[in-house]
Amino acid sequence: MPGWISLPLIAGACGLLYWLESRRPLRRSVEPKAKRTARNLAVAGISAAVLQVTERPIIAPLCALVERRKWGLLQKARLPGWLEVPLAAVLLDYTLYFWHVLTHRVPWLWRFHVVHHLDLDLDVSTALRFHCGELAISVIWRAGQVILLGVSPLSFSVWQLLLFLSILFHHSNVRLPNEAERRLNRFIVTPRMHGIHHSIVYAETDSNWSSGLTLWDWLHGTLKLNIPQDQITIGVPAYRNPEEVTLVDILVLPFREQRPNGKLRGDKQPAQDR
Ligand SMILES: [Zn+2]
Repeated sequence: MPGWISLPLIAGACGLLYWLESRRPLRRSVEPKAKRTARNLAVAGISAAVLQVTERPIIAPLCALVERRKWGLLQKARLPGWLEVPLAAVLLDYTLYFWHVLTHRVPWLWRFHVVHHLDLDLDVSTALRFHCGELAISVIWRAGQVILLGVSPLSFSVWQLLLFLSILFHHSNVRLPNEAERRLNRFIVTPRMHGIHHSIVYAETDSNWSSGLTLWDWLHGTLKLNIPQDQITIGVPAYRNPEEVTLVDILVLPFREQRPNGKLRGDKQPAQDR
């Protein structure tokens, strides 16, 4: 996918959602927005640089190799392009569901993914806040997806763009009309649905793992929609103090001793979660 298509779309989506967040916020903010946005952009900048040296040299050549050698499910099926590309996007979306579950279930992956979750507010800038370590490790998963599914370069870039737009949208703090959100939510992950996944309450985080289509949560019985947003506190119980989640703190957090009650399965649960 050429940059002249994807970059304006991503920048436009960021700008539009940021503007809508100021006009129609869904949840009340805890931290000053400008400060959080700057911090999350700094995390994003470091992660983007790390992806340039981890994902870029591996995934693009791998997709080309898979297409040339006809490796993987979709290449073996020899489908027409109009069918192969959307099918690849759907299968990549489904397999990403399992990666997301793993980042919560496997303690050493959670050390990295928690950096995304301990943002005290949830908005479009949170969508860009993934620790560079999590993204670098996820390249291994992505390589597995490409080889097993047989993902061509075009399919991969179309999926990446759709995923990026979806992640920006469902992390945003935009209050959509209830009816519009309900209709959208039958198909794709929406801001209220993903807000529940970012709740401080363990049983609520332990739901809504999908990143694109709602279908996967529905299929696996992990869809949760009955929590009003005004009852949700965003974050992780062990990290509630804004002074403890500064840029440096969150960058070194995966390498430090983890606090109990960091919301991992088997941890002592917060009172409101029992
Ligand atoms: Zn998560």
